[in-house]
Amino acid sequence: GGPVTLEDHERGYGSDDDDDSSSSNGKEKESIVDGIEGCIGSTPLVKIRSLSEATGREILAKAEFLNGAGGSPKDRVALNMIRSAESLGLLTPGRGDTIYEGTVGSTGISLAALARARGYRAHICMPDDQSAEKSALLHHLGATVERVPVAPITSPHHFVNLARTRAAEHTASAATPTDSRGFFADQFESRANAAAHEATTGPEIWAQTGGGRLDAFVAGAGTGGTVAGVARYLKLADRKVAGRQGALRIVLADPQGSGLYNKVRHGVMYAGATEREGTRRRSQVDSIVEGIGINRITENFEAGRALIDDAVRVTDEQACRMARWLVEHDGIFVGSSSAVNCVAAVATALALPPGSRVVTVLCDSGTRHLSKFWKRIGEMGLEDNDNDRDGNDPEAAE
Ligand code: PMP
Repeated sequence: GGPVTLEDHERGYGSDDDDDSSSSNGKEKESIVDGIEGCIGSTPLVKIRSLSEATGREILAKAEFLNGAGGSPKDRVALNMIRSAESLGLLTPGRGDTIYEGTVGSTGISLAALARARGYRAHICMPDDQSAEKSALLHHLGATVERVPVAPITSPHHFVNLARTRAAEHTASAATPTDSRGFFADQFESRANAAAHEATTGPEIWAQTGGGRLDAFVAGAGTGGTVAGVARYLKLADRKVAGRQGALRIVLADPQGSGLYNKVRHGVMYAGATEREGTRRRSQVDSIVEGIGINRITENFEAGRALIDDAVRVTDEQACRMARWLVEHDGIFVGSSSAVNCVAAVATALALPPGSRVVTVLCDSGTRHLSKFWKRIGEMGLEDNDNDRDGNDPEAAE
């Protein structure tokens, strides 16, 4: 108890350690990471107190927004895609190579930061309906940003196809071995994506829960890399634990308008609430949620599809209410995909016996979603800020 003192500070705030062994004696091990790459991974697993109390189950979340390059789990993916391209000779530092990617934002932000750190350029193609914060951030990170109108995946103008074409054009223009090349990162289809989560996120969750003491893992899918990679590690590890008989459940959190829910539940891909509605073959996911929900099966989703036991569909309203709840009760300020994950984590937990433990993911910070998702939450009247006297009340500004 009590306020933090300078002594506490020297000992480390979080340390319960009362002995003085860690005080300055010049013998402590150094703890320094090498560049921005060293700020990726090893994120905390946070108990969300309010949801745990409300459900009588333990709701834990991997704080992926704390990844220090681009502020999302895509840091792990971007680093792995770059490293694997380097090992294959597809990217060479010092040649002025450009990394091309089609992304709704997070992967582009991670790639842009890491490209700078490793001597590359980044060219990001993204749909123009994503929050302005993300394209501004990409711009300030020095990436070339191409915002394109929303188009179906079958169109050459779809942001992913455009990035692939740009990379191929760049590489085709190289006349000598020393000329720069274009590299298409291809997060939707590249197995380096799910592999990053299988190699890092999954093992971290396993270790942080004392050797896999969890009953379910819940996550949404954009590329599917997170859910597939984590599922592959956790399910395999769980099956190896004697007596547990592979009881660990993997649950997909899917926003409204995404076809994955029906694919998991009924084996058929259709976007609407009914199959008939889905025959309109909407390529666009009709949701305010950014980053998760999709109407096609990607290579990364496929890598883990057989391991997904169930799916929970989450409406925009539920996501907005959850995001607001997390601020109000826990001081946790997140974006839309994190909120969807938490809604689905609660639903999953309530279907399990009291005392069960569910792990989900907090993907990115709410600061990246002020102009769209958090604006909507304000418009819904969920933010009852009586003490707002600074003139920044969005409603007063109307
Ligand atoms: N949340 C956000 C904010 C994202 O940008 C993404 C990736 N598009 C995801 C979640 C989903 O992750 P994955 O691609 O691994 O399925």
